[in-house]
Amino acid sequence: MDRSVGAAVRRSAELERQLARDPGRFRVLTGDRPTGALHLGHYFGTLQNRVRLQDLGVEVFVLIADYQVLTDRDVAERLTEHVEGLLLDYLAIGVDPARSTVFNHSAVPALNQLLLPFLSLVSVAELGRNPTVKDEIAHSRQSAVSGLMYTYPVHQAADILFCKGDVVPVGQDQLPHLEITRTIARRFNERYGAVFPEPDALLSAAPLLLGTDATKMSKSRGNSIALGADADETARLIRRATTDADRYITYDPESRPGVSSLVLLAALCLDRDPYEVAEEIGAAGAAGLKRTVTEAVNARMAPIRARRAEYAQDMGYVREVLRAGNERANAVAEATLDEVREAMGTTR
Ligand code: ATP
Ligand code: MG
Repeated sequence: MDRSVGAAVRRSAELERQLARDPGRFRVLTGDRPTGALHLGHYFGTLQNRVRLQDLGVEVFVLIADYQVLTDRDVAERLTEHVEGLLLDYLAIGVDPARSTVFNHSAVPALNQLLLPFLSLVSVAELGRNPTVKDEIAHSRQSAVSGLMYTYPVHQAADILFCKGDVVPVGQDQLPHLEITRTIARRFNERYGAVFPEPDALLSAAPLLLGTDATKMSKSRGNSIALGADADETARLIRRATTDADRYITYDPESRPGVSSLVLLAALCLDRDPYEVAEEIGAAGAAGLKRTVTEAVNARMAPIRARRAEYAQDMGYVREVLRAGNERANAVAEATLDEVREAMGTTR
């Protein structure tokens, strides 16, 4: 684990203590790109934390980052379908629209206006150094890198800061972006007066879940197990997951990433320790491991999948959740933009 991840893990533990003591003091913003179905990496990396914090009494904003679909592709394909899929997943896992605000940033003009002053606060060199942007360029479907790809961490700063989010439950890949958001908040406050918090990332016990090919589970890499997949599809995907030649199952993420990510997945679904799970499987080998994982995932996801199917019967309600969330997000964004105008001395 590199040093910055280690520091973020320690900071997350401290944040958890503060959140438990005084949940009303914090505001959570986090979100997903509508580029495909949400998967188990999302669930254990961030979705579960959103619901837990909501239930703890923290105000939660959930963003569907529709403009950011265009960072690494020319057109936003099947956008409505993906947006509705995300909404179904949120409701199925327990996001409660009465307590949490779900919105898409293209519907919130005042949020997007923050991008302009924010862009002036970071250098081109700083944007070019971002390791997640470099990784995403490597996996991009475009032949040329767009300006939006370089600037999307700044757009993300607008996403987080428009509602003064100070806790951001994310996966490990988002840490470099959070640093840019913190830098922008700090520089804005220094230049124009204190308006924004400096938000912290909140990592879960699975900040980087691997997919069936033993690289980061991602919607766009064809290596994910969707929350909404059925039991047979789940079994099929796990059956073809990458393992290794060592017959005896152990938990060793550094040297056995494929096997260990399957062990971790079972452990997360069973709320157990991965070392214990690996020890129990031991000589049962890869076949035994895959059997355990499949059963654990399907048992854990069954109630979520059932609720998802129920909500899918009432898409009118599901769309209304987004409309109401957008209305609230617009009010919050307008208020923040007014403060920014005041601080910068611009008039309307
Ligand atoms: P895409 O391939 O389109 O980039 P993605 O699977 O990376 O999709 P995002 O919408 O980019 O999903 O990420 C949404 C949130 O989920 C972010 O907070 C990200 O850190 C987290 N996340 C994504 N993949 C994982 C993973 N494999 N493990 C843990 N967290 C993850
Ligand atoms: Mg991503």
